[in-house]
Amino acid sequence: MSERLHVRADILIDGSGGPALRDAALLVEDGAIARVGPYFPPPEGVRSLATGTLLPGLVNAHVHLDMAGESDTWVIVNRKDAAGALAGAHQAAKTLRSGVTSVRDLGTKNFISVALRDAIARGEIPGPRVLTAGMVICMTGGHGWPIGRETDGPWDARKAVREFLKAGADCIKLMATGGVLTPGVQPGNAQLEEAELAAAIDEAHKAGVHCASHAIGAAGIKNALRAGIDSIEHGHLLDAEAIELFKQRGTRLVPTLTAVQCIIDHADDGGMPSFVVEKASRLVTDLYDNIRKAYRAGVTIVAGSDAGTPFNYHDNYAYELELMVRELGMPPLEAIHASTGRSADFLHLGDVGRLEAGQAADLLGVRGDASRDIRALREVTLVTRGGTLYAGG
Ligand SMILES: [Zn+2]
Repeated sequence: MSERLHVRADILIDGSGGPALRDAALLVEDGAIARVGPYFPPPEGVRSLATGTLLPGLVNAHVHLDMAGESDTWVIVNRKDAAGALAGAHQAAKTLRSGVTSVRDLGTKNFISVALRDAIARGEIPGPRVLTAGMVICMTGGHGWPIGRETDGPWDARKAVREFLKAGADCIKLMATGGVLTPGVQPGNAQLEEAELAAAIDEAHKAGVHCASHAIGAAGIKNALRAGIDSIEHGHLLDAEAIELFKQRGTRLVPTLTAVQCIIDHADDGGMPSFVVEKASRLVTDLYDNIRKAYRAGVTIVAGSDAGTPFNYHDNYAYELELMVRELGMPPLEAIHASTGRSADFLHLGDVGRLEAGQAADLLGVRGDASRDIRALREVTLVTRGGTLYAGG
């Protein structure tokens, strides 16, 4: 049940990309933000909470809800869908309690994420707002085929998109290159052809649906950019020509730094197939240099972590923002913008991502000053979605 709630914050970051406000207050009524600004006292009889920093609930633009950070992803491939759905429900709840109130899911097995999205929307299970691709579209034997619909040729790519829209997808995920977690494919190699990507993207855009492409190698990144993709996921081996295409087209880059870094951090823990560690180790040498170049050149970065991949937990999204600050040199306020207002605008999430009167009361409170130290996002003091408290208080 939503209640009236007053929050006093030492620091308020409104998600618009502007400066932080000191000594602020916010009032929630009927699930929405009724008032926000410089400190004002709570109305008579209204419960008041205090926090260090108050910001919009975070948006993670790249997750896989049916994966939990298992060391060996093949567990998911062999699992019955019912087991995957229950595991996904658990991950959705963890996501929400960590302060991530909206996600874009970029592929699960057999459209499990569509069922999760709908169960969350009906209020049957707790979770973030979910936009989902349902599954991925890849070439025959291409990266992600165990959770994918294999397609070959432009007309079949169109048909795949039509099938996905019929099955309830909100967005489309295409595979333009090989990747780390699928055996026998190389991240640097191009996969779906430019003509296949263009046909799929045209079909999705016709329905008003946006498209994301997994793309690590430069040739595949440029195929997807030229084909009119809306966001490139990973982009780790991008080159100067790709940077120019990003800028000309205004395409967003979702760098998912944690997807590789978590594999490197846990390389010696055991449990991961050796090909996963080998491929990630090769990528990490150039990854930060390349993404930093793109960032400095003015490519628009939207935050997303690829949560669910090995050791990359749904409640550890703060790590992605820490890497954006530490490795890309992004100011903490921009990292927060890239995971709130900027992301919500890109994904057309509607009334979330900003702390403004009239917006849904999706709030994250943390200890300390997140505008100066991004690590503050690890110390959650309160989370609301639509004004309902899910953590703290
Ligand atoms: Zn992914």
